[in-house]
Parts: sequence; C-alpha cells; structure tokens
Amino acid sequence: MKPAAFTYQRPTTLTQALAAYAAAPEAKVLAGGQSLIPLMSMRLTSVPELIDINGIEELSHIHVERGQGVRFGAIVRHAQLHAHAEAREVQPLLHAALSHVAHATIRNRGTTVGSIVHADASGEMPMIMSLLGGTLTVASVEGRREITAEDLFIGPLETSLQAGEIAVEAFVPALPARHGVAFDEIARRHGDYALCGVGAIVGLDADGAIEHVRAGYVSVSETPAVVDLTGCFPDGELTEQGLKDAAELALTHLEPEADIHASAEYRAQLARTLTTRVVAAAHADAGARANAEVTA
Ligand SMILES: Cc1cc2nc3c(=O)[nH]c(=O)nc-3n(C[C@H](O)[C@H](O)[C@H](O)COP(=O)(O)OP(=O)(O)OC[C@H]3O[C@@H](n4cnc5c(N)ncnc54)[C@H](O)[C@@H]3O)c2cc1C
Repeated sequence: MKPAAFTYQRPTTLTQALAAYAAAPEAKVLAGGQSLIPLMSMRLTSVPELIDINGIEELSHIHVERGQGVRFGAIVRHAQLHAHAEAREVQPLLHAALSHVAHATIRNRGTTVGSIVHADASGEMPMIMSLLGGTLTVASVEGRREITAEDLFIGPLETSLQAGEIAVEAFVPALPARHGVAFDEIARRHGDYALCGVGAIVGLDADGAIEHVRAGYVSVSETPAVVDLTGCFPDGELTEQGLKDAAELALTHLEPEADIHASAEYRAQLARTLTTRVVAAAHADAGARANAEVTA
C-alpha cells in the first residue's frame, strides 16, 4: 500500500523546524521513519505534513561525560550509539539493550530518540530510559524543557510531549561505582520485537552486600514497567529463594497479554525466567566491576 498524500519539509536548522511545526501542529516529525513510514504506508495513520529533521546537523551529537552520563541528539541512529565505545563504557546497559533492537538495516536508519518518543512498550529504549531514570529534552517555539522518563510515558504509544514540541536529545545517567547491569530477551528471531525482555541494575555497598535491585520489562505491560526488587534480598545476599521471590514480585506489577506470538502464560513464564537470569547476571557484573574498581 501507499500512504495518503502528504506535504514534506526538510529544514536545516532547529529554529526553522520549530517554526514549521508551530505553523502546522497536525504535522508529524520524521526521524528514522522506521515506525512512522510503515504506519503511514499501511494507512494505520494518515499525516497531512511531515517535518523531516534529518538535515538538522545540530541534532547529530553524542556527548559522553564520565561520571555523568550520555547525551545523544535526535538524529543519532541506533547503530551509531551502539558502536560508540565511550558511551558503552559509561553506561553499558544502553549498549546491551541496543544489541537487541531490530535488525541491522533498521538500526542503521532508526533513531534512538525516535524510538523513545514512539513509546512502544515492546521497544527496548523506553524501558531503558525508565530503568536508568533518563530525561528527554524537548523544544518548541516557546523554549525548552526536560521531561523525566517517569513523566514521559503516559500510555501505550503515548508520551507527554505537547503539540509543536520536538525532542532534541536524550540523556541517560552513567553507571555509578559498585553497580552492575544485564539485559536479555526472548524473541522468535534475533532482532524481532521481544516476546519478553528484562534489564536489571544491581548496586552493592562497600562490603559487597546488595544495596538495591531494580528491573525493567519489555513487552509485558502497556507502558515501560520498572520494579524495585531490593526487598527480596533482605540479608544483602543473592539467594535462590530471593531470585524466585523477585520473579513473583515482578509479575504482580506486569500485565502479560496473549497475542499471535505467545500466550499470556508463556509471557509470564518468560518474565519469571528472565528476571532470575538477568538479576543474577547484573549481580555478577556488579561484583566484577567492584573488584576491578578496587584493584584499579
Ligand atoms: C521490522 C522492524 C522491526 C523493529 N524491531 C524493533 C525492536 O525489536 N525493538 C525496537 O525498539 N524497535 C524496533 N523497531 C522500531 C525501530 O527501533 C524504530 O527506529 C523506532 O521505533 C522509531 O525510530 P525512528 O527514528 O524510525 O522514528 P520515526 O519512525 O521517524 O518516528 C516514530 C514516531 O516518533 C515521532 N518522533 C520521532 N522523532 C521525534 C522527535 N525527535 N521529536 C518528536 N517526535 C518524534 C514521529 O513523529 C513518529 O510519531 C522495528 C522496526 C521495524 C520496521
């Protein structure tokens, strides 16, 4: 199928793009087009006007601040961020999750900020923003504002961006000392949307005891779900019982649903299995990093 007729603009500065958007609030921003163009082509959405931001050089940055975090502009492709060695060092969970986003051709074109704004709870990046406590900077002709991940994702495929606002960059904080991360997912084929995906971050105290454990979930809730699992490890040790309790606690916060790919029960079982696997891996990663920090 072909999309319905639309007009198209390709501004070369953010100021021009914001003015164009203010003049046509029913328009849509075109980033990588890997979600928007299929939706238009299948006529699941019709857009009268596209504002293509790909010519705006000032949105192409990746800035890594050690001890602070990673900032990336709105036209940075998944593949660019994935390949960025410094970004990987400062926030390894971003790299780990990007490895599972779609196929190479889609990662070469799709943008990570576009993926965040698209707000699909089956996408890895909205969950990563929520789990890491990231922020999105948006701009309009009125000025700029920052939106925390907590306030960003308000419903399925729905964010708190207002008409006329363009997301200009996203920020994810650096991994603190004595922390470890892990990510894993089950998809029918590598690069497909996950049937279920889990990311975890574990923090240890100076004696190596667990201080906090949080996990984020892909494809088992309507908006990105993050669950604090710290209470399952009351003695600060990683135990089999603690992992089992963590899996059951997580399920009380999730809404696995059936579709043509998996039953609700199967998705729930994947959430259980991945929770235990990923939390254990993040704990091992935290231990290894803490040891490396001591010897460095
Ligand atoms: C076959 C296939 C498999 C895929 N598999 C996965 C997967 O496994 N995991 C995954 O996470 N994603 C997957 N994707 C989606 C991919 O990651 C897209 O890159 C992403 O969803 C959207 O990014 P984009 O840059 O292509 O955005 P676009 O398609 O250009 O835009 C998406 C939406 O966000 C809005 N938007 C984009 N950028 C901005 C901005 N800066 N400011 C305001 N609004 C903006 C657009 O107006 C539109 O509504 C897949 C896509 C395909 C086609």
